[in-house]
Amino acid sequence: MRNRFCVPHFFIIFAVIMNLSEENISLLRRLLEDERKHNVVIVSHTNPDGDALGSSLALRAMFVRCGHTARCIVPNKYPYFLDELCGIGEIITFKTREEEALKVVAEADVVVCADINTLSRLEQLSSAIREKESATRILVDHHPSPDNDFDIVFSHPESSSTAFLVYKIIETIFGTSFFDREVAEQLYVGMMTDTGNFSFSALTPELYRAVAVLAETGIDIPAIYNKVYNSFTEGRARLFGYVINRKMRSLRKGTVAYMTLTEEEMRRFWFRQGDSEGFVNYPLTIKKMKMSAIFIESTDYIRISFRSRGDVDVDTFARRYFNGGGHRNAAGGKSFIPMAETVSRFLQAVEEFAQEGGFRTPRLKSNENS
Ligand code: 5GP
Ligand code: MN
Repeated sequence: MRNRFCVPHFFIIFAVIMNLSEENISLLRRLLEDERKHNVVIVSHTNPDGDALGSSLALRAMFVRCGHTARCIVPNKYPYFLDELCGIGEIITFKTREEEALKVVAEADVVVCADINTLSRLEQLSSAIREKESATRILVDHHPSPDNDFDIVFSHPESSSTAFLVYKIIETIFGTSFFDREVAEQLYVGMMTDTGNFSFSALTPELYRAVAVLAETGIDIPAIYNKVYNSFTEGRARLFGYVINRKMRSLRKGTVAYMTLTEEEMRRFWFRQGDSEGFVNYPLTIKKMKMSAIFIESTDYIRISFRSRGDVDVDTFARRYFNGGGHRNAAGGKSFIPMAETVSRFLQAVEEFAQEGGFRTPRLKSNENS
């Protein structure tokens, strides 16, 4: 019998190579080389993660090195375990520095949307950005189905992270000598967090070549890992134990799991924003699990995260039932009704989704492992 970890040769030969559009690269190059100095604002999504922040900061470095002014804005605070990311002081949080952020947006003549496919994910910041109709709009993103009102578009759902896409853009325009330790760390954090420390899908040879270039700058990879994944509080560790032990429910013969977290429970464990990061992945460590969800209460709505394995498409699930979206195996959404009703809606949605074949594993194709 063939080793089931052995990957067929056709995959290695035809692994996706990311082709950037020459037209968009030359439009961006022209803008970067413009003698007129631009005011650039780089914006990313609500609840910014390592990819949103790392990509934004590396894009900022690209514009600044070409002599332009560039500022980064995110709608709300990033999690505390990203406090030590190189250059994090450059990030303006709209929620706490609204006046300054609006001034930056008003002055900008170039708007870059990084790691978002739709302006609605900017939440409170979205109307200010929408009003910037005269600005040049650039999209740099890896989510499927982007909005179509951009002048320069780098939309690559086949990329495992936006950071990898930013890497490719910079490498194409400036070559690998552009990468110093600071930009390398920012991009590495984006790649590492969006791939679950290089364990999810879309891990192409090309990605590892990019990582090799970043490693050559001398970044300390174990130290970066520790800063991000081993920097939590004791409360978070205890909350994690509580959620898995007491709150995880499973259905469909143990193939779908969900967890809920109320504000009262979060207070009990001295919750800090970011403490629930990664909880939703844990049920997928169970071999037969296909989909996992977590429902987290906040003042305005219930924030939902979905994760899945293989062909189970939680992007579609989140779009259809929970005002959200994301990627096939990692998506999010929102619910504006109380927790108990949200959970009933989820249970119904799972049944409907199952009836439509959403959990069916496709038969192995003849050229896959047998
Ligand atoms: P997370 O569960 O880590 O917050 O998000 C997982 C993925 O889904 C990320 O790529 C994130 O950008 C995306 N995502 C999360 N929430 C939403 C949402 O409300 N709408 C859309 N379109 N994407 C989301
Ligand atoms: Mn991302």
